[in-house]
Amino acid sequence: MTSSQPIAVVGGGIAGLNVALRLLRAGHAVTLFEKQRGPIDKVCGEGVLPFGVKHLEDLGLAVVLRQLGAPFHGIEYRMGTRRVAGSFADGEHGIGISRFEIDRLFRARCAAFDAFERVEGRKVTREDLTDFAQVIAADGVHSPLARACGRRVRMGRRLGVRFRVQAPAPPRVRVSFFDFGEMYITPVAADAISVAMLLEGDRVPHGKKLQSWCMTQFQRAFPEYDGAVDHFATRGHIVASFAGPRPDFHLVGDALHTFDPISGAGMSAALAGGAACVTHLHDARAYFQAMAPLVGSVRNFTRVILAFRGGGLRTRLMLARLGRAPTTFDRILALHDGVHQPWQLGLRAALPLLRPW
Ligand SMILES: Cc1cc2nc3c(=O)[nH]c(=O)nc-3n(C[C@H](O)[C@H](O)[C@H](O)COP(=O)(O)OP(=O)(O)OC[C@H]3O[C@@H](n4cnc5c(N)ncnc54)[C@H](O)[C@@H]3O)c2cc1C
Repeated sequence: MTSSQPIAVVGGGIAGLNVALRLLRAGHAVTLFEKQRGPIDKVCGEGVLPFGVKHLEDLGLAVVLRQLGAPFHGIEYRMGTRRVAGSFADGEHGIGISRFEIDRLFRARCAAFDAFERVEGRKVTREDLTDFAQVIAADGVHSPLARACGRRVRMGRRLGVRFRVQAPAPPRVRVSFFDFGEMYITPVAADAISVAMLLEGDRVPHGKKLQSWCMTQFQRAFPEYDGAVDHFATRGHIVASFAGPRPDFHLVGDALHTFDPISGAGMSAALAGGAACVTHLHDARAYFQAMAPLVGSVRNFTRVILAFRGGGLRTRLMLARLGRAPTTFDRILALHDGVHQPWQLGLRAALPLLRPW
């Protein structure tokens, strides 16, 4: 049975599909507007953190996504030959999964409902939305809907790049810091890794030279991977933040929380946002309040990690200190659950990071 008031969801990325599926399950009729024609890919590191996996479990999708993708059990940081590794808490894992597969699975689940309609291949217009009782904006990092409501967007300088390589899945996400940004290696199948780079946009070559430059940097940082390369894609300058008034409708995913993607929590936060959005469907203010701790947590972790990036002395010091305190690294990963804040690490765990020697 569906409720009589249809709901419009604008944007068919992970945030839009997740909220659409949750609304359909709650008995609502949903029309989803997506400007691209599927299947949809996205420049992304393609790793869902353990707190995002819990939301996939709620939807009954975690098992199948894990089979289509690959689990990972922690994060390894490296710079040159120095490496430190942290593990998620016992029984917790992330899932590395291609965005094509996420798109395919969520779409199929939505399409199984008679009350689902998908309008694709063009941008949504004001006229499209006039007949809907409610609109949910999941239109991504540049959110045209949020901008239309007067929210200002600050552009960052960073550039995203993503490609895939045939190689056995590593047990952890590997992050390599280098002079121009970071590289993220995520297992996305038993025999494939996704390579994402977040680059300082004004310090790297542009146009045709970018791809070969990225390959050179990748092979230098990870000489152990020499498989065939596929699916090279770039994303222009990444939005740094939104400011200004909150609209009186719900924003989910990157449309709500736009930060540098360095925390690797974007998809997980989008999954959590969809659940909160459906819980507070008729009260945008309660929804924004419910999301505040998660948005604050991801933003604060992002700030902390950004403070140590860049491949210079600060990165080296951070790696040296984490290397001396492996249980502290595990604790940081356990706190990075979209709820806790970095300062909840505790003095005893933080001391090895603060000691100057
Ligand atoms: C290099 C890089 C690496 C990253 N690595 C990770 C990672 O490892 N883990 C992680 O969790 N996150 C990562 N992220 C962040 C993650 O990709 C985003 O947080 C996530 O994709 C947000 O999903 P979304 O659905 O909100 O936005 P999107 O996936 O961008 O979807 C928005 C959709 O809205 C559509 N749209 C926009 N405007 C309109 C319109 N006017 N009409 C109709 N449709 C419209 C777009 O076509 C798009 O499909 C990374 C990001 C980058 C750039």
